[in-house]
Amino acid sequence: MSDPYMPLTSVRSGIGFEAAKGVHGLTVQIANVYFIQYPSEPHSFILIDAGMPQSAGMILNEAKQRFGDDYHLKAIILTHGHFDHIGAIEEILEHWDVPVYIHSREMPFVTGKEDYPPARPDSKSGLVAKLSPLFPRHSIDISSHVQALPEDGTVPFLDEWIWITTPGHTPGHISLFREDGHVLVAGDAVITVEQEKMADVFIQKQELHGPPAYFTPDTETAAESIQRLAELEPGALLTGHGIPMTGRNFRSDLMELANHISSL
Ligand SMILES: [Zn+2]
Repeated sequence: MSDPYMPLTSVRSGIGFEAAKGVHGLTVQIANVYFIQYPSEPHSFILIDAGMPQSAGMILNEAKQRFGDDYHLKAIILTHGHFDHIGAIEEILEHWDVPVYIHSREMPFVTGKEDYPPARPDSKSGLVAKLSPLFPRHSIDISSHVQALPEDGTVPFLDEWIWITTPGHTPGHISLFREDGHVLVAGDAVITVEQEKMADVFIQKQELHGPPAYFTPDTETAAESIQRLAELEPGALLTGHGIPMTGRNFRSDLMELANHISSL
């Protein structure tokens, strides 16, 4: 059964952007996906996350625009398995028989074994938070394609990148980091919009923010994850929600955010 179209969107939906050297981004309604160029093959890429339900056409079209008609998807890496990060994955896999990688602790949510816990609509004020009980949280089943990320922190197909465990938002949430340019693909561990607020989401008002509160059962662990990301001294924050922030060292901003969240 496919999920219904979610009437949540933003002014940037469908807009692609160069997020960092070798990393192209696309906003799909309210969530971002990233295309990381596969080294030495100009038409090939690895997709990070898979957008909202029913967005496969939009994502693959963007791939064609960016990588050419003979574009080639090598693999998909998921930061976590929430509906707005895996929405198009089943349809993409119908076109592209490629491996999907996710943290081992996140596997039950993408192999039909475990659903995410219920949303917490009262965790923070805002219309998106209020609507969150309507968001799908059931497990999908892509067992035929998905496998656990290697435990040593290496990222398949992407030698320059490492993955870091950033739980709290979900038990097996990960972020990706590249030393070159100190580029962080953060998923929902940290985001750049106040995701609980419909108006902010719609205009994509830029603001450094913790993970969406309505879907974050473990705030304390989420704060520790942000602290861990701060220690990497990222110079570019490419997040699952919101317009990327680039051009400075985000260490102190992230430390401050982690302290703020753990004091709530
Ligand atoms: Zn999420």
